[in-house]
Amino acid sequence: MSAGFPSGSRSPILPGATIGFLGGGQLGRMTALAARSMGYDIQVLDPEAACATRPVASRTITAKFDDVNAAVDLASQCDVITLEIEQIHPDVLDAVAARTTLHPGREAVYIIQDRIRQKQWLKANDFPLGAFVAAQSADDIADAVRTHGPCIAKSTHGGYDGRGQVRLSNVDQAKDAWTALGGHPCVVEQRIDIAYEISVLVARSASGQVAVYPPSRNHHTSGILTWAVVPAVISDAMTQRAQHLARGVAERIGIVGLLAVECFVTKDNTLLVNELAPRPHNTYHHSERGLATSQFEQLVRAVCDLPLGDTTAFAPSAIVNLLGDVWVQDTPPAMEHALEVDGVRLHLYGKAGARAGRKMGHLSAIGTSAQDALGRVLESYRRLSPATTGSFDVHEPVLAHITS
Ligand code: ATP
Ligand code: MG
Repeated sequence: MSAGFPSGSRSPILPGATIGFLGGGQLGRMTALAARSMGYDIQVLDPEAACATRPVASRTITAKFDDVNAAVDLASQCDVITLEIEQIHPDVLDAVAARTTLHPGREAVYIIQDRIRQKQWLKANDFPLGAFVAAQSADDIADAVRTHGPCIAKSTHGGYDGRGQVRLSNVDQAKDAWTALGGHPCVVEQRIDIAYEISVLVARSASGQVAVYPPSRNHHTSGILTWAVVPAVISDAMTQRAQHLARGVAERIGIVGLLAVECFVTKDNTLLVNELAPRPHNTYHHSERGLATSQFEQLVRAVCDLPLGDTTAFAPSAIVNLLGDVWVQDTPPAMEHALEVDGVRLHLYGKAGARAGRKMGHLSAIGTSAQDALGRVLESYRRLSPATTGSFDVHEPVLAHITS
């Protein structure tokens, strides 16, 4: 669904120009590959010298995300700057925006990068959310559990892949949770009785054109994304509600680039926003396979103010994440066996040092249906690492999720 060329003229940043990335992880790498194939040059800033985007970039600046001088250096050589991580210091965003074009802009990133600020903004703008409390102390956490029952306390900054989160079932756990989160203010969310999880990706270009992707159906294990599939196998009514919601959030927050809206659907069919991400998203890696325009190419189009690409699904597609857990003492799993399955492709991020929970790559597949595409990536995963497939249910129990 791509719609609505805005009035007014575009001022596109054309191939041959240089795109700068704040953040050089796998999202930057895959976006940079798409940008390269469209004829753009790439520069990147990341705290890790050997970051995943480095091999794709002409220049890598090794600096932290609060290093204003380094960001100014990046900006001095780039026609437009985007980001693949939201934890960029606001001073860096300001310094970049003062020197070159920055998309997405400071305001959207500033709202999203703090969980409390993000939730308060969503609430103030009447978007549907589960119950939450902004806790300033262990007592606040205890009160939240008393009021809302089982909860999850989440750090305001820097949490990802379920890190910086503590689950609480009773009031007695509040003190430990406060300590585990470093004694900083946190968000305490009521634990939602989730029927299933979806996300919707929205692209918005600098001149205001909007494109909304079909929802992705997502499965997490211990707070980390395990697999994602399109189509989501949900009702047309839920598809429309979710797309309408995501588009509304993207327009209200004024994103330029990509906005992923992660959602919960409860057992009584209530649609709630979980969280927002102003960048490419793990749940849309299948867009490289089954959707007419990958999220990575779409980000390039959006920030360069080119016409947005078609978001239609031309084939069901799925991904399964490869975490460091399936590397045994730095020995990679059997990639050659994973590729025995028809329709499967391997995507590795070039990261040295496989650690438990670290995203090292993913497998993708297209198929004749959501179940078929998902079945292929899960079968491929099983062949890649028979010893570790017990870490999550790869067969019927998981597939059953999407037949309901
Ligand atoms: P990521 O970076 O992968 O998006 P994250 O660390 O930001 O993850 P969340 O998105 O907040 O973490 O949570 C990860 C997962 O944990 C969710 O997708 C969901 O499966 C579960 N979860 C989070 N919050 C809740 C909640 N309030 N109730 C029930 N489950 C939840
Ligand atoms: Mg999340």
